[in-house]
Amino acid sequence: MTAVPSVTLNDGTSIPQLGFGVWQVPADQAESVVAQALETGYRHIDTAAIYGNEEGVGAAIASSGIAREDLYVTTKLWVSDFKAGRTKEALAESLQKLRLDYVDLYLIHWPSPEDEKYLQAWAAMEELQSEGLTRSIGVSNFLPEHLDRVAQTGSVTPAVNQVEIHPALQQRDIQQANSKYGIATQAWSPLAQGAVFGDEPIVAAAEAHGVTPAQVVIRWHLQRGRILFPKSVTPDRIRENFDVFGFELTEAELDAIDGLERDERTGMHPATFNPR
Ligand code: NAD
Repeated sequence: MTAVPSVTLNDGTSIPQLGFGVWQVPADQAESVVAQALETGYRHIDTAAIYGNEEGVGAAIASSGIAREDLYVTTKLWVSDFKAGRTKEALAESLQKLRLDYVDLYLIHWPSPEDEKYLQAWAAMEELQSEGLTRSIGVSNFLPEHLDRVAQTGSVTPAVNQVEIHPALQQRDIQQANSKYGIATQAWSPLAQGAVFGDEPIVAAAEAHGVTPAQVVIRWHLQRGRILFPKSVTPDRIRENFDVFGFELTEAELDAIDGLERDERTGMHPATFNPR
């Protein structure tokens, strides 16, 4: 089986650099899609309470026969739960749905910064980590100013910050702030949901290496050191997105893809997204 590189996080744990994301995977398909991913060789699954598919993920894990210590499972705390002071209850509910005793990584899904309640949530996350219910704790969609506030008021540095990153939106300011604090960067929507597959440097690299644009973009993230978990529900694409360890992009190809930055966001802006 393909050896996926591991990244060592600032708390000493390690995470497979390439995983499988399940946002927008319908609840009734999640079990079969995750089973397909595990069969392909993925050992890192990225879900969230708000995705509504933790039960399917849990069912696929339970029937996979894969030892718990060989799997890496991330889930996320939704905003309304931490605003209601329900951080601990929310993880208990996620663990029950996932049929797990602990997750490997628990993330604050969005800062929703209007009232800074994410700082109280972070204190609760620290307790959940010391209780052993999550191995690592981290954040998602945090801007540098939010990381600064966590650094000022918290005791534990987030292990990761999961943000939207793809060739058309590289968020270099956030990546720099992450590095400054020793926080690993996870790229969400790493393929820009397909929107960059026609871009010339990506097409050229795909032709040069005899691979697909999706495989080029995945290699670009891997070689730039980011953790990612592309999503697909199509078996051929699930396999294709994992089959990325037989070629290497040149420095010139990586630079050309870096040059595609155009501040093109597919999701919400963390400064102004305050879901209820
Ligand atoms: P993605 O960039 O992984 O794109 C997925 C889409 O790209 C698929 O639906 C399909 O249309 C297409 N695709 C995938 N593989 C392909 C291939 N080989 N060939 C052609 N097309 C292909 O987007 P995503 O699902 O938004 O992001 C990946 C994961 O990131 C999510 O599943 C989730 O786990 C995570 N995520 C997190 C947040 C957050 O706020 N923390 C937000 C969005 C996504």
